[in-house]
Amino acid sequence: MHEHYLEPDRIRLVENLSYPDSGLIIADAILKQHYRDFFERNDGLPTLYMPASEKSKNHRSLAIIYTFFTKQNLKRSDTVHIYGGGIICDLAAYGVATFKRGCRLKLYPTTLLAMVDAAIGGKCAVNYQGFKNQIGTFYPAEEITIYPPFLQTLKPIELRQGKAEMLKCFYISEQLSDIDTSDSSIPGVSQILEYAKFKMDICAQDPHDQGIRRTLNFGHTFGHVLERLSGYRFKHGDSVIAGISAAIDLSLKLGLIDSEVDELSRKNLSSYPLPAAIDRFLSKLSIPDILSEARQDKKNSGSALKMVLPIGYRKVAIRDVSPTL
Ligand code: NAD
Repeated sequence: MHEHYLEPDRIRLVENLSYPDSGLIIADAILKQHYRDFFERNDGLPTLYMPASEKSKNHRSLAIIYTFFTKQNLKRSDTVHIYGGGIICDLAAYGVATFKRGCRLKLYPTTLLAMVDAAIGGKCAVNYQGFKNQIGTFYPAEEITIYPPFLQTLKPIELRQGKAEMLKCFYISEQLSDIDTSDSSIPGVSQILEYAKFKMDICAQDPHDQGIRRTLNFGHTFGHVLERLSGYRFKHGDSVIAGISAAIDLSLKLGLIDSEVDELSRKNLSSYPLPAAIDRFLSKLSIPDILSEARQDKKNSGSALKMVLPIGYRKVAIRDVSPTL
């Protein structure tokens, strides 16, 4: 992997999006509808449009990508430009990483979640036999271009999922600026860049996800349980917010934080418009219930569970949670 690509200056924020002058394009099919003039030009590059769905983030779609590359005679020195949210970025980047053992890759994230999270840090993957991101690798893009006007066509519910991951980062670092999660407004461009660079900086410190990068999983252990128990009815970002709330409960119970920190931490969460259905679902589950589900999720029912937990206001650490809790 090109670890030197994990540098904050690999992220470019642009006011005008210029069309690439060579290589191939893979784009989320929805972008052709919203940005026809940009993608459908007479002298345009060969472009493969793909639908963004978790169900098609798999080997069948990967085969379509490899066939496109083969037909277009893609060489290792050629660049593939990928435009899309986290699904298309993950799927197509994995195709680029594995075709001829890796070609040149540039990402143009088009959702808030991809701008501040999925396109940053080099992880790419496809789902396999119902397991998310089961087959994948680390293959950072040589450049990530953030063009915020893409967000103007994003549905408010999708915008909220991106804000959820930003709020998660807000809890991990005291350095990050306050975010407004109360409505579907688009965050300012400088804040998008700030959060994207924050993630890149953590990934640069821990490219293979063995230490500090794991703190980015804050809220995810319980979040994944909620997603799974709801049959994936709940969106990922929303589930992570509910997971953060449960993690704060657990920290209080374990004495890792006091009631003052608990209260402060909840203040930021309370403005997030969590769907009532998730709130209701969460209120029916006890912490031991969720923990036992989480152990099954990780297939380690007998041993301690490693979790990212608050140990102060906007401070987290990785702790072993005993199976007897
Ligand atoms: P997504 O890619 O499904 O996009 C959400 C929806 O928005 C889709 O319907 C898509 O077609 C549409 N869309 C995309 N751009 C648009 C635009 N500009 N205007 C209008 N509609 C647009 O979802 P996502 O939330 O961006 O990504 C979720 C995926 O990201 C998951 O598969 C997850 O596993 C992955 N992910 C990866 C990482 C990583 O580090 N690699 C991190 C977080 C999440």
